[in-house]
Amino acid sequence: MICNAAGIIQSMALNQTRVNRLQQILGEAGVDAYFACTPVSMGYLTGFFEDPHERLTLIAFRPEGAPAMIAPSLSETHAKHTEVGDLRVWKDGDEPTDVFASLVEDWGLKTAVIGVDDEMPAAFLLALQAALPAALFKPAGAQVAQLRKVKDADELAAMRKAAKIADTAFSEVIGDGCSGKTERQIASTLYSTMQARGGSPTFSIVASGANGAEPHHATSDATVIAGDMVVMDWGCELNRYQSDITRTVACGNAEEEAHKVYRVVYKAHMAARATIRPGSPAEDIDRAAREVIEEAGYGEYFIHRTGHGIGMSGHEPPHIVAGNVEPVVVGQCFSIEPGIYLPGRFGVRIENIVAVTEDGHESFNEEPSEELIEISS
Ligand code: ZN
Ligand code: ZN
Repeated sequence: MICNAAGIIQSMALNQTRVNRLQQILGEAGVDAYFACTPVSMGYLTGFFEDPHERLTLIAFRPEGAPAMIAPSLSETHAKHTEVGDLRVWKDGDEPTDVFASLVEDWGLKTAVIGVDDEMPAAFLLALQAALPAALFKPAGAQVAQLRKVKDADELAAMRKAAKIADTAFSEVIGDGCSGKTERQIASTLYSTMQARGGSPTFSIVASGANGAEPHHATSDATVIAGDMVVMDWGCELNRYQSDITRTVACGNAEEEAHKVYRVVYKAHMAARATIRPGSPAEDIDRAAREVIEEAGYGEYFIHRTGHGIGMSGHEPPHIVAGNVEPVVVGQCFSIEPGIYLPGRFGVRIENIVAVTEDGHESFNEEPSEELIEISS
């Protein structure tokens, strides 16, 4: 165990409590073995956050018994920190599936039901399937989501801190003026502020004017001019946990409809949040935001779900979307980010990260402005 500068205790080794819970979930789901291979899946369970890139690396778990790990030799030292006793190492030039074949033999997996991370690279999966033609491979996304869906106190503390760092970047940007700056320059201010506060920036979208009508606009060299609306969506990682926030401002004076649209999105954001309590179906939270936007006549311009879960991954279950009837529970964290996108004109999105609490929710981000902020151009 280490205690880092932020005071968060992080285990560098296998987390037996989480492994026990995983084993119970695997047993209930009828999965004989689960192969974790993403940095988040492996890291959450064992502290091994390494990105395998193209080299076959996985940690195998089953409903009972100790896990096993397959790793390339250049990761051996790091892999030993996991304290997974059954470590099977292969070297560049070896055929990694030979090591895998030994695990298959020892665990009797030839006709097993095998769960894999939804994000397992095709090159890994195809090689494993070729080695195990009679096994049934299934995505283990639902099991992994069940495992990680409730955040403990340390996890919530890390997410709160990551959100605070993202918040400070906003104050920096709005104090900085806008006219004549490019989207990329604004993104750079967001990045440098988060870095200066100890966060590792993970992404930023800065979308001015008509670019703001594309929710996932790729930040460009477009210059912001007076009168533009600017959508900014950014986040960082701290102690392995993510933040994600969106604010929309105007550069100088915005047109009247921009103020109106902003108020509608703000109202939708707050209506969704007012619906959050333990037991609320996720789709009810989505519907609360959508109804406000539909009643204002902008329904067709709200073109995405209201939110996504967040934790070690930037996007993870639960999705706050029509059709997801699963009730939210205390300790779950997700975004609330309704938006209106008027093609060729501008967009507005307002996003905070929240955690479900016994009596409703806690927002990790500062409250958004009720009225559109016009920053000095
Ligand atoms: Zn976002
Ligand atoms: Zn988001």
